[in-house]
Amino acid sequence: MFDGEIALLAWSDYVGVTRCRGVPAESVASRMANGLGWAVAGQALTPFAGIAPNPWGPLDEVRQIPVADTVTRVDIWDDAPPFHMYLCDSQSADGSDWDCCTRAFMRRALDDLKAETGLDLLAAFEHEFTVMSDDLEFAAPFSVGAIRGVAPFASDLARALGQAGVEPETIEPEYGIQQFEVTTAPALGAASGDRAIITREVIREVARRRGLGVTFSPKPSPDGVGNGAHVHFSLVDRHGGNATFDPAGEGGASEVAAHFIAGVVRHMRALTAFVAPSPVSYLRLGPHHWSCGFASFGIQNREAAIRICPSTDPDLDRRARTYNLEFRPPDPTASPYMVIGALVRAGLEGIRERLPLPVNCDRDPADLTPAERAKLGIVPLPESLGEALDALMDDELARGWMPPTMLESYLSVKRTEIALAATLSPEQVCAEYAKAY
Ligand code: GLU
Ligand code: MG
Repeated sequence: MFDGEIALLAWSDYVGVTRCRGVPAESVASRMANGLGWAVAGQALTPFAGIAPNPWGPLDEVRQIPVADTVTRVDIWDDAPPFHMYLCDSQSADGSDWDCCTRAFMRRALDDLKAETGLDLLAAFEHEFTVMSDDLEFAAPFSVGAIRGVAPFASDLARALGQAGVEPETIEPEYGIQQFEVTTAPALGAASGDRAIITREVIREVARRRGLGVTFSPKPSPDGVGNGAHVHFSLVDRHGGNATFDPAGEGGASEVAAHFIAGVVRHMRALTAFVAPSPVSYLRLGPHHWSCGFASFGIQNREAAIRICPSTDPDLDRRARTYNLEFRPPDPTASPYMVIGALVRAGLEGIRERLPLPVNCDRDPADLTPAERAKLGIVPLPESLGEALDALMDDELARGWMPPTMLESYLSVKRTEIALAATLSPEQVCAEYAKAY
């Protein structure tokens, strides 16, 4: 009997929106076997009301197959039903991955990494977001007052994220006014992308129940502080060891980590088309904001696009466990699946070519002269989404990471967003994206 509980079968699309269909909770098992049909023209949706030109017609459909271990059921409210959600793989009628499924894009990259190197990715996102409420009293950045000002929300969040199984690690005030950050423990392989999506949707749901507006937009206002979605990651060997770490390597980077970092730096400009994929992303990306403006690598350097987070623990085992790399350009308008997939693709290119570790940039690269940057091989990141898409198309390897239909339809959605944003002032762009995310 349908007892009224609805399970959301959800997926994360090109614009990083979690879309869903709802089914009675007790029917999920049969949906795992047979899936739920979905008209794929929906993959061309912008984050707004419109839909981009796309290759799909009224007959085109995929099956959304809920993935059992993504189950999220949060039941902390007396006055609202549980938040019950599964993330889905999108399959064609013959049971193969749909070309344009973002989760399959991530899985294929992870599978190739594993097949070619024997390594798995262990990764976690930092979730920054802004509470959009006029009722909160002013509180200084990082202050006790800032987090206590939203104490009921924060405590719901701790319970809800715990129930969701995402292993929350920090729930804290950030630098921006009414900006907060949530981090979770890292997860292995595809679960890293799943966990990021679940975490974000649980944060949104908890805020909703408290009547608080939150936005994950990279730049809620032109002069405000940006919201990033940095990724911390390491590579794990067959024995569960941290293959990224070698105490003898520069900055503690192992050989494979050096290759991986070098691949990411080499493809960084193309990567922005995946990880900073909105017009508003480029109001956030830039020097002097710790969001990064250059394709640079640095040990400990928060202005570098990829950095080593060295651990100072004197115990070598503990140091190996916590040592990780941080990829800083991503923002929350990107699907976490696209972020993980593209990051792994770029790193894998570096591993295949055995590229050497780039020069460690030990200061803000924006403080170097153009000649000094050129000597270090540091190039600027794109300054607009249009420039990022051009960088993707100019990068022969990177433009092959997506299957052809996916690339074509992804570009169409992104160009539609560019055209929409071109009619708006920066203030309006920020306002529209703040509402959409
Ligand atoms: N808010 C910054 C960004 O947009 C990141 C600040 C930090 O280092 O946590 O990326
Ligand atoms: Mg932060």
